[in-house]
Amino acid sequence: GVGDFFDLEKLCVLGRGNHGSVYKVRHGQTLAIYALKIIQQGSNDAYVSHETEILNCLDSPFVVKCHGIFEPRAGEKAILMEYMDAGTLDTIFRDNGPFSETSLARIAYQVLNGLKYLHEHDIVHLDIKPSNLLVSKDMKVKIADFGVSKIVQGIGTRADTNHHNMCEGTHAYMSPERLDSHTFGSGYVYAGDVWSLGVTLLELYVGHFPFFPADKRPSNWMELVLVVCFGEFPSFPKEASEEFRSFIKCCLEKEPSKRWTVSQLLSHPYACLGERLGK
Ligand code: ATP
Ligand code: MG
Repeated sequence: GVGDFFDLEKLCVLGRGNHGSVYKVRHGQTLAIYALKIIQQGSNDAYVSHETEILNCLDSPFVVKCHGIFEPRAGEKAILMEYMDAGTLDTIFRDNGPFSETSLARIAYQVLNGLKYLHEHDIVHLDIKPSNLLVSKDMKVKIADFGVSKIVQGIGTRADTNHHNMCEGTHAYMSPERLDSHTFGSGYVYAGDVWSLGVTLLELYVGHFPFFPADKRPSNWMELVLVVCFGEFPSFPKEASEEFRSFIKCCLEKEPSKRWTVSQLLSHPYACLGERLGK
């Protein structure tokens, strides 16, 4: 079966990250196609990923499915996953430009369901962004890349108060309370994923990082912190509907205790629209 790591043939590279690469592979015996992520856990850096342990026990239609975990050699781990044949929200955006409000409603509904599942299982993703949301040709959207995710009991314990760990994940999608590391771990860890979803959806709608004008990207950490923590709420294009504006505002509430939770957002009219459109 797919339990045999050595019967997997590499077809091409699907992506490369800081700690490894993802390949499209074919299983020799069944000819089935999978994605294989190979992670280097070198002893010379502080990086320790719980990705394999986390993925191994997840089973949701809104989270990328794991079919096996291997240790091809010491210090290396490989995750065999279902192959998502339409890329990521990031690659689709780069090929086709911004998304419509209605496609984003369907996306929002699915990502919320994925986050609901994770949060109910005490897992905080910590790196929600377009390139970590995988898509299939029938527009199913699944959460992937648990490289910096945490099991919530572990947050704030000694092993986890390491600054290096805290600041992993992509800064542009980080909530004000995570950028201000003093308040991270203060009891609203799940709210960080909701913020990242809000930035992701608004970025895919307006076509650029929403806290800055179209032609500008934050050039350093301080500029990002200033605009995200203290800047004004990004303005919406005039054609944006009331439902969309309201949903995004509920995600991008600066104060984490006031930000809507995933369950609250699932009953928001915009998420309900996404649910109906997906049927
Ligand atoms: P890390 O952030 O831990 O360094 P990473 O960003 O290198 O991880 P992933 O996000 O898991 O790793 O994968 C990198 C890229 O590979 C994705 O953005 C996507 O383009 C592609 N990819 C990953 N998993 C799959 C999959 N199951 N099906 C299709 N493409 C995938
Ligand atoms: Mg990634």
